[in-house]
Amino acid sequence: MSACALTVRWAAASDVGRLRARNEDALRIVFAPPCAVLADGMGGHRGGDVAARLAVDVVAEHLAVAAGSADEEVCVLLGEAVAAANKVIFEHAQIDPGLAGMGATVVAVRLFGERMCCAHVGDSRLYLFRGGELELLTRDHTMLQELVDAGMITAEQARAAPFRGMLTRALGALPELDADVFCRPVHAGDVLLLCSDGLTDMLGDDEIAAVLSGGGDVDEWAAELVAFANARGGRDNITVVLAQAS
Ligand code: CA
Repeated sequence: MSACALTVRWAAASDVGRLRARNEDALRIVFAPPCAVLADGMGGHRGGDVAARLAVDVVAEHLAVAAGSADEEVCVLLGEAVAAANKVIFEHAQIDPGLAGMGATVVAVRLFGERMCCAHVGDSRLYLFRGGELELLTRDHTMLQELVDAGMITAEQARAAPFRGMLTRALGALPELDADVFCRPVHAGDVLLLCSDGLTDMLGDDEIAAVLSGGGDVDEWAAELVAFANARGGRDNITVVLAQAS
């Protein structure tokens, strides 16, 4: 079995933001085995809601099963979970014309032993906050990130670009999909942050790090991050999940 050797304290906050009528982000935390899923839905009249909810439901259901303690085994489990969510969203969108074109991003983590495994698709992110430093562990599947990687624009220019949300990969677009999956060690004191782009479009990494460096606990940090993004304009739905290991 893949029992987690660390104690994990979870917190989450999700808010519609200041401009959108509905919150099309979704999240789910499972305490045993410790895992979390966050999805950001898009498309159509009600498609975004449905896609995000399907994503977290299907991924959480898959992650709740037992896995071994080998990285490869947990990576396979996460990859299968995301592939299954993609298939369900794609099929629903084919059957129901009201849901045509719906999709979702997803980021999921599962802790096991003294490690964690992450799977993601789209521009929802996973950060690691360790020793006062914030590190982005995922790489956005966006047009913008491809331009940055190709050296055509700088990360600074990317932050101001008008087409930040253009995804190159999303759940529900194609019948088959591969998530990016990776494992990393987790140390006592580490904080993992899963978030939708409604947070990272409003706040720079330095500002997120400043919140996590402040006094308080994960519940307060989650609320502060959402309030900070709203104070900056809250242009999109804002969702954060925090996991602190000890
Ligand atoms: Ca969003």
